[in-house]
Amino acid sequence: MDSPQFRQAAHAAIDQSDNGQSSTTTTTSAPPGYLRELIPPGIPEDGESWENIQRDIEAKIMPGLTHWQSPNFLAFFPANSSYPGILGDLYSGAFTCAAFNWQCSPAVTELETIVLDNVARLINLPEEYHSAGEGGGVIQGTASEAIVVAVVAARDRAIAQSKEIWATQNLTEDEIEDRVCTLRGKLVALGSDQAHSSTKKAAMIAGIRFQTISTVMGEYSLTGAQVTHKLEDLHARGLVPFYLTTTLGTTPTCATDDFASISTALLAYHTAHPTAPKIWTHVDAAYAGAALILPEYQHIPLLFPSFADSFDFNMHKWLLTNFDCSCMYVRRRRDLTDALSITPAYLRNEYSDSGLVTDYRDWQVPLGRRFRSLKAWFVTRSYGVQGLRAHVRKALDGAAAFTQLVRADTVRFELVAEPAFALNVVRVRPPPGVVGQLEGGEAGAGFARRCNEVTKKVADRVNKEGKIFITPTVLGHGEESITAIRVVGAAPGVQVADLENAFRIISETVDAVWA
Ligand code: PLP
Repeated sequence: MDSPQFRQAAHAAIDQSDNGQSSTTTTTSAPPGYLRELIPPGIPEDGESWENIQRDIEAKIMPGLTHWQSPNFLAFFPANSSYPGILGDLYSGAFTCAAFNWQCSPAVTELETIVLDNVARLINLPEEYHSAGEGGGVIQGTASEAIVVAVVAARDRAIAQSKEIWATQNLTEDEIEDRVCTLRGKLVALGSDQAHSSTKKAAMIAGIRFQTISTVMGEYSLTGAQVTHKLEDLHARGLVPFYLTTTLGTTPTCATDDFASISTALLAYHTAHPTAPKIWTHVDAAYAGAALILPEYQHIPLLFPSFADSFDFNMHKWLLTNFDCSCMYVRRRRDLTDALSITPAYLRNEYSDSGLVTDYRDWQVPLGRRFRSLKAWFVTRSYGVQGLRAHVRKALDGAAAFTQLVRADTVRFELVAEPAFALNVVRVRPPPGVVGQLEGGEAGAGFARRCNEVTKKVADRVNKEGKIFITPTVLGHGEESITAIRVVGAAPGVQVADLENAFRIISETVDAVWA
């Protein structure tokens, strides 16, 4: 492909992908393995024309796509796309510079620092996390990667703190090494039972233990008392808690942990056990962090400096920036670089050696990195603060309309958690005639079981029919578990009317399942 051919193909590709953006269909009916039937095996001996390749996008790829930008996509959490975001990825692809250090392309590093400081101001993140002090931000691929980085940095900080104490005890190097190995086996990373599974995965990757802290059914947010109980229990058993994921907007119900009481609990634990390694606390705001751009949520980040070593949210979920753009902030960037910096000879250069530049390779797992700040820059400039706020508010308004409809329909539905950050979590009641016949009425186990059965049937049927796409989920375990439906309309094209339409579709499906 030469330059004139590229220009022509690029125009055609943009026309085609723009049509895809406005699709109102959500799910695909493609069966497993559908693509193997359509695409001949192997790479052609001689290259094909772009026309040929492009035709296959329409005929073979599009039928297997779920349309996350559709106004009928109400599942999982959103993955927003926008025109400025797409343009950012286009330039990033065109420039392609694997800018692992400042010297590789100063613009890539410097724009990232500037954009992340701007985003920090946008969400009211205190100065401690800005680049002017000891902190700073970095774009990771995902919230899960941010947690891996935080856990590894936390592990190394915990070991370094213990080594400082042992250094005063007249031990040989071998003895210290033995102690490090013993300590590694005792380190425990923590998250609540509502925290995203990425904390457990990060612990697996880092080779350390992981334990959950139970929350109360119906509330779902972690409290200081629960943290204290777990920390003291581990300490009494000779284990060493060193890391805690707290969440702003949990995946199942968008619950927010009680940051103030957790902060107090951590302080009390460290006062009682002054030689215990300092617990690294991460705030995972993968989806809900976008809401911090609204004035009514901006008091929340002011609490962070009292307890949080790191914070992360995905602009690629609810803030109009195409996947991937996970904004991670730390209070002390040295914690990351101490844990993740390795400098073989070929990476040494006068700029890095001078200490005057940032090398983001030392803040992340991979070496190479894309020019991801471009899309965040384009999005924040194109929409401005007011445009971004209007986007987030629209989702909140749609969700509030849905909540109102659910609350008004006490025959069919129950909310199983307080609606938060544009997420509604509901369960479906059994037919009214059946409720009266159940032993113990609504208070009995039979009622809960019937709710679970009917909710699952409704969710499966709605998704099978494919007019809208919702997520069934299960809260809690065993006898007490609640099957529920999550509805979140935060794709850019979702209007209040789409949530009202979704309520109508779900209600009609309830009637059909009841019948
Ligand atoms: N944390 C929370 C609270 C989430 O809801 C999710 C996914 O939805 C994640 C982490 C993982 O996000 P990512 O795909 O960016 O790793």
